[in-house]
Amino acid sequence: MKKLAMIYEGKAKKVYKTEDESKFIVYFKDDATAFNGFKKGSVAEKGIVNNQMSAILFAVLAKKGVKNHFIELINEREMLVKAVNILPIEVIVRNIAAGLLSKRLGIEEGTVLNTTVLEFSYKNDELGDPLINEDHIRILNLAKDKQVEIIKSYAFQINSILKEYFLKRQIKLVDFKLEFGVCQGEVILADEISPDTCRLWDADTDRKMDKDRFRRDLGRVEDAYKEVLSRVMK
Ligand code: UDP
Repeated sequence: MKKLAMIYEGKAKKVYKTEDESKFIVYFKDDATAFNGFKKGSVAEKGIVNNQMSAILFAVLAKKGVKNHFIELINEREMLVKAVNILPIEVIVRNIAAGLLSKRLGIEEGTVLNTTVLEFSYKNDELGDPLINEDHIRILNLAKDKQVEIIKSYAFQINSILKEYFLKRQIKLVDFKLEFGVCQGEVILADEISPDTCRLWDADTDRKMDKDRFRRDLGRVEDAYKEVLSRVMK
């Protein structure tokens, strides 16, 4: 499939049109940003890991009935996806306290949560992606109530599938972020599922194997990403 005009460039990905208007090509970059773009850098071969890991997990989820945008891998850094309109909502699912949840609520990082926590934030760089609730989604017209219901039910289903998948590979799924898009009137999972968008801890040692190594300057970022991919491929 021929790559045509680039229609979007984000912090970690570029999206291109193709000859088929119902399909896009996503290119995964090595660029890394954190703290709303305040910290910038790059992680060697991150794009390769994120592309391949997302492809594997999207395929796993599709098999279990979670509709998503993934069609096929094109090469190390590119995948073919269904063209969607991304809803401007970040959906965060948490199993263990970390990051902003710990900061906001004063819960020690690593505390196992007694219920799965679902959060929404408004995808808006200028506002710093603020936390929002379903009323805010309604007043901002970000999605219809029915779409929010579908997103919520997918989010919990994805969490239980991925939690089990990672745990079999000695990884704790601490939290993660999802984005959904609309394709021919239907809400489907889109974006990526990678160490950039998930907190992943080694199940034995709680060693961080995700973007927190970059955010917090913990070192050996590339190694951690590659280790996650090799476990996910098993
Ligand atoms: N996350 C993401 N993109 C964002 C914000 C968060 O992928 O713009 C992911 C993040 O990697 C983590 C989860 O969502 O796995 C929860 O992040 P949190 O709200 O704790 O914010 P952070 O501490 O990452 O800023």
